[in-house]
Amino acid sequence: MNESRGTAIHVSGLTVAYGNNLALDNVRLDVEIGDYMGIIGPNGGGKSTLLKAVMGLTDIMSGEITIMGKSLREGRNLIGYVPQSTEFDRSFPIDVLEVVLTGMLPIGLKPFRRYSEEEIRQAHYLLGSVGIEHLARNHISALSGGEFQKMLIARALAAKPKILLLDEPTASVDASSRAQIYDLLDELNKEVTIILVTHDLLAISSRVRRLACLNNRLIYHGEPELNEDVVTNLYGCPVDLIAHGVPHRVLKEHGGEDGCSC
Ligand code: ADP
Repeated sequence: MNESRGTAIHVSGLTVAYGNNLALDNVRLDVEIGDYMGIIGPNGGGKSTLLKAVMGLTDIMSGEITIMGKSLREGRNLIGYVPQSTEFDRSFPIDVLEVVLTGMLPIGLKPFRRYSEEEIRQAHYLLGSVGIEHLARNHISALSGGEFQKMLIARALAAKPKILLLDEPTASVDASSRAQIYDLLDELNKEVTIILVTHDLLAISSRVRRLACLNNRLIYHGEPELNEDVVTNLYGCPVDLIAHGVPHRVLKEHGGEDGCSC
């Protein structure tokens, strides 16, 4: 756990709309330095929009976002972002090492500049730290789902972030790679604050320290344990559908004074 104290990300009154479609409605969320927060919610619940807002990648209607006490503009370079892998064109002519190197570019610079020996050495090191250094010169189309995610994590780490945002990093990933990615995130969390958007309730039950439930509004924010009311409110469907096969810690019964804001 990170020794430092304080707020890594502060979001208050955040409202984001696409035309008439309200993606985020008056969301308030604080993430402490060193935290490992999971964000769950139904499709269309605004999870990706929240990450993009925190990255300054989407227009906001109202609200305040600060990163390590700095404004969004000053603080965004403290964030590493692992977007959904579906956002990538895998036929793009680039190899694994080059993708990681693009993570070292200051915002606004274009890829394919000349990299220094030190940057190339660092990119190899990062690939080693996520376990795929042997794939450095492979074209990205040759990677499995798990290898692709590890490459994206290495790219996000290239800018030496203090905060790592990950948008469904275990979607389309086999079980063994999924466990490796969670082990990697546990290790990274010793140094870096992590926010993980996921549909994987196993991760919620066994990995994250805090949980936020988002269905355009923030439904719940607190310990990674949910009661039936919160889950039903969040997904609008019976708990059994959600809980099947998931350790009971996720659905532990508890009273209403623990952060439930529904
Ligand atoms: P989630 O990540 O929880 O699935 P999103 O943040 O992707 O949710 O989407 C929230 C809402 O905003 C959805 O209704 C979605 O259709 C809409 N939305 C997201 N991105 C865009 C966009 N670029 N243009 C228009 N609508 C969008």
